[in-house]
Amino acid sequence: MGFVRIWLLAALILGFSPASAMGRDQGLSAPGHQTSVEHPVPEGRLSSVVKPESYRLDLTVDPSSERFSGQVEIDVVLAEPVRHIDLHGRSLNIRSVTVTSAGQSYRPRWQQVHSSGVLRLRFGSVLPAGPATLRFDYDAAFNDGPSGMFRVNVDGKWYSWTQLQSIDARAVFPSFDQPDFKTPFGITLRTPPGLMAVSNAPELSTNTEEGLAIHRFAPTLPLPTYLVAMMVGPFVATESAVPANRHRAEPLPLRIVSTRQNADKLAFAMQGSKQIVSLLEDYFQDSFPFPKLDQITSPIMPGAMENAGADLYRDGLLVLDDDATPSRQRGFGMVVSHELAHQWFGDLVTPAWWDDIWLNESFANWMGYRIGDAWRPDLNMAAGALAEGFRAMRLDSLAAGRPIRQPIETSAQINGAFDSITYGKGSHVITMIAAFMGDEAFRNGVLGYLKAHRYGSATSSDFFAALAEAAGDERIVPAMQSFVEQQGVPLLTFHREGRHFAVSQSRYASLGGVVDETQWTVPLCVRRAKERHCQLLDGKRTDIEIGGRGPIIPNAGGTGYYRFELSPSLWRALISRARKLPSGEAQAVADSLAASVLAGRTDVGELVRLARQLVRHPDSFAADAATNALVAIADAGIVDPAGKQGWKRYRARLYAPLMRGYGFDPAAGLYSAESPERSQRRAQILGHLLWTRKGTKFRRRLEAASDAFLSGERAALDPAWFGSAFDLHLRQGGEQAARKLMERALASEDPVFRPAAIRAVSRIGDVVVAKWLVEDLEDDRLRKSERRALLSGVMARSSTRDIGYGWIIKNLDELQSDSGGIFMSTWLPRLFDDFCSVEKSAQLASELGPRFAETPGALAFERTLEKVRNCGMFKDQLGSSVSEVFARLR
Ligand SMILES: [Zn+2]
Repeated sequence: MGFVRIWLLAALILGFSPASAMGRDQGLSAPGHQTSVEHPVPEGRLSSVVKPESYRLDLTVDPSSERFSGQVEIDVVLAEPVRHIDLHGRSLNIRSVTVTSAGQSYRPRWQQVHSSGVLRLRFGSVLPAGPATLRFDYDAAFNDGPSGMFRVNVDGKWYSWTQLQSIDARAVFPSFDQPDFKTPFGITLRTPPGLMAVSNAPELSTNTEEGLAIHRFAPTLPLPTYLVAMMVGPFVATESAVPANRHRAEPLPLRIVSTRQNADKLAFAMQGSKQIVSLLEDYFQDSFPFPKLDQITSPIMPGAMENAGADLYRDGLLVLDDDATPSRQRGFGMVVSHELAHQWFGDLVTPAWWDDIWLNESFANWMGYRIGDAWRPDLNMAAGALAEGFRAMRLDSLAAGRPIRQPIETSAQINGAFDSITYGKGSHVITMIAAFMGDEAFRNGVLGYLKAHRYGSATSSDFFAALAEAAGDERIVPAMQSFVEQQGVPLLTFHREGRHFAVSQSRYASLGGVVDETQWTVPLCVRRAKERHCQLLDGKRTDIEIGGRGPIIPNAGGTGYYRFELSPSLWRALISRARKLPSGEAQAVADSLAASVLAGRTDVGELVRLARQLVRHPDSFAADAATNALVAIADAGIVDPAGKQGWKRYRARLYAPLMRGYGFDPAAGLYSAESPERSQRRAQILGHLLWTRKGTKFRRRLEAASDAFLSGERAALDPAWFGSAFDLHLRQGGEQAARKLMERALASEDPVFRPAAIRAVSRIGDVVVAKWLVEDLEDDRLRKSERRALLSGVMARSSTRDIGYGWIIKNLDELQSDSGGIFMSTWLPRLFDDFCSVEKSAQLASELGPRFAETPGALAFERTLEKVRNCGMFKDQLGSSVSEVFARLR
C-alpha cells in the first residue's frame, strides 16, 4: 500500500507543475526501483560529500494567497568532484536551478526522487571539488495543518507560521535538511505592506519596493534547518526586555506576538517569560544564546516549538491571566521553561542525528518541570513531573515499543521518536540519574557538555561521558545506557530474608504479556523512616541491609524509573502508611500496586485500600493516584454493570465528605485568590462526585451556570468548569444544543472556550450528532486540527465509537497522508486504544495491519493492538472477580 501512495504522490508533484519542463527529468524513479539510476536514493542521512555553509532565503509570503515563492541560495563545499548532488525538497515547484563553481555556471536537471523529499540534481559534466553556490527559484503551497509553512484565517484575517521539525523545512525551501548541518541563515521576507514579519534573528530594516514591504533580518547564528522560523501576518506584539544580569551585559529584547484578538491578554506571558529566561540563565551560568526572543502564538499548534529566538506556542499555552486554572498556569510554566531550555539544549548544542532527539526532549522536559517549579513553587510541578514518568511506564510495559534512543535509518521513522518514551520516560530517567549523582554534580556534567559543543552538535556518548566525568564515576555510563538503549520497565521484587531484603530484577509485563528478558544497571534508592540507601544494582539480584523501622519504601522519592513487587505483608505495611509518604513515593506505590493488579498478582481490593488511604493525602497528584487507576479499570469495559454500580457508589462515598471542606460555586474568578493546590483538589473531587447521586446539587449549579453563561452572562461560569458544564448542558439539550454550541464555538476565537466547546460536542455520545460531526459537518471556519479533535471525541465514547471507526476505515488513505505535523503519526492509531477485546485486536490487525505497516504510525499501531488485546485478556481472566470485588464495596 505504501508503495502505491508514494508513486501517486511523486506523479502528482511532477504532473501538475505548471512551470516549464526544461531541465527536468522526464522519467520517474520510485524508491527501490531505480533502473539505470547511478546512485541509491538516501532515505535517511545524506552523504557527507556536500556540506552546506550558509543559506540566503528571499521569500515572498502573502498569507492571503495560496502559495508563497522565492529564491534560495546555498553556499556549499564539495569534498570531491561530483556528477550529482542529493539534497532535500518536497512538493516544491522548482522553476530553475543554477550552480556556480569556480566562475563557471551549471544548469543541472532536477527531480524529486523520493516521497520523503529527496531532491537530486544531475550535472551534464563534472562539478569540481571546492566551494559552490546553488540557486533555486521556486514556489510552493501553504499548508493548512501545523507543518511546513501553514496559514490560518483568524477572525477574518490571514496569518502564516512555520513549523519545520522534524523534516518539513524541505517543504518550505530546498535544503540539506538534517540536524548536524548547522549554518547561518540570511533571511529576507517580502510581504504585503502593514504585515509584521518575525524570524529567528532581529529585523535589520524594512522598506517598500514594488508595493511589497521588504523585511531584512540579521544573519542567524549557526542553526539546523529544523529551527528556522518565518511568521507573517497582521500580528500584535507587546515589547519589553529581560533586564541585564551577571550573565548578560545588555537587556534581551523580548516580545509576545499573537493574533489580533488576543491583544489585551499577553501580560502574563510577558512577565512569566522574563522570569523564566533569568532562571534558565542562572541554571546554565550563561547568557541567553541568541540576540533576541519572540514568543509567538498560533491557534492550531499541537504544542510548542523551540525555534531559536522565535518560539511558537498554541494560543492556549501563552494567552492566559492570573485567573487561569492551576493546570493552565502549570502548562505555561512547564512548556515555556521546556522550550526556552531548548535554546541551550537543542538549539545551541544540537543532536547530530534524529536517533539522539531524546537528548533534546528528555532534558528539556526535565528542565521544564524543574525551572517551572523554581518559577512558581505553589503550582507543584515537581509532583507533576513524576506523574508524567509513571504514565510513560504504562506505554513502556508493552512488548511493542522502542528504547529512548533508537537507531533511525529512514525518514519514515523520525516522527515516531516524538512519543512519551522520549518525553516522559526520558525525563524520569534524567530525574533518576540526577537524584543518584546529586544535583550539583549533575549540573556540572550538563555545563561541561554544553561548553564542549557550543553552536555545534553532539551525541548521547558525549552527554554520558560529561556526566561520568562530573560524577567521577564511570559506572554512570552503563547505567544510563541500560535505560536509554533498552525498552521496558524494570520490575524489582523485594523479599524479606531475616534482617536483609533480597532484591531481584526482571522486566515488567502485564497479565499474559510476553516480553524479552532484560537486565538493567539500576540506580536503586530505598528508604526506611529516615534511613536512605542507594546503590547500583547491576546483576540479577542483590541483598540490601537497611536500618530504621517501619515499612521499606522501595523507590525513595519516587525518582527511580522502575516498578516494584512486594510480598503481601510488605504491601500491607506500605499501604497502611501511604498517606504519610511524600508525593513521589505515594505515586510510586500507586503505580506499582496497580501494575501488580494488572499483572494478576494482587487482588484489586488492595488497590481500593490504597485509594481509601490516599484520598486524604495533602498533595493533589498523590491523592488521586490510586483512584485514577481504579477509574481506568472500571471505565475500560472490564467490569460488569453490578460492579460498575458498586464502584460508583463507593467512589461517591469516598469523595463526598471531602467536598465539605471545599464548597463549590461555579461563578468566574471566585477561587483565583486561593492556593493552586486547593483549587486543583476541588476540581478533582468534583470530577469524582459529579456523575454520582451525591453530585446532584453540583450538577444543578453547573447547569444553571452554563445556561446563564451561554445566554451572555459571562461571569456566571468560570472557564475552569467549561468541560463539565458543557457536558451537562448537552446532556439536557441533546442534538439541538450540540448544533448551537458548535456554532458558538466556530464564531469564537477564545483560546479556552472554542476548544472546550468543540470537545464537549464531540463527546456527547449521541449517535445522530456523531454522524453529523464526522460525515456531514461542512464549515470553512472548522480547522483541520479541530476535525481531528472531533474524531477523537467520537472515538472516546463507546456509544459512538463504531461510527468513528467506520468513517476512519473509509478515509484512512486521506488521514494517513495528512500533513498534520510531528505528532500525527502516533495520533491516528491511538484512536483505537479504547477497544477492549482479544477478538477486536485480531480484527484490527487483519483489517488495518497491512495499511499501517511501514508507515510512520506502524509502531503506534502495534502498541494499540497490544493494549486492546491485553485489556481483553484481563477482562476474560479477571473481569468477573474484579466485578465481584467492586459490587461488594461498602
Ligand atoms: Zn521539546
